[in-house]
Amino acid sequence: MPDLDDTSRCPLGRRCATCSTEDDLAIGTAVTPVGVFCITLCGTCAEKGDTPSIGYPAAAMQVMVHCSHLDIDLDEMAAALAAERVQAVAR
Ligand SMILES: [Zn+2]
Ligand SMILES: [Zn+2]
Repeated sequence: MPDLDDTSRCPLGRRCATCSTEDDLAIGTAVTPVGVFCITLCGTCAEKGDTPSIGYPAAAMQVMVHCSHLDIDLDEMAAALAAERVQAVAR
């Protein structure tokens, strides 16, 4: 099962996606109803869990991009998400 939070192959953006700062950036992941995608955040926003609210089409696009980083397709993403939900329920 692919690890959807694996960001080792995700490119770091030049600015924080939430507050646009260029300092202290790191890649994180955001979980949305359409899937998981990678996002560049500064330390402050990452700590607050402050991800920008983007619309459904933009989120779907980001999810597809992140799938390509993970070298999986959307079906595998959906399967991995479903598996994670099952785990969450089992806990
Ligand atoms: Zn920020
Ligand atoms: Zn990615």
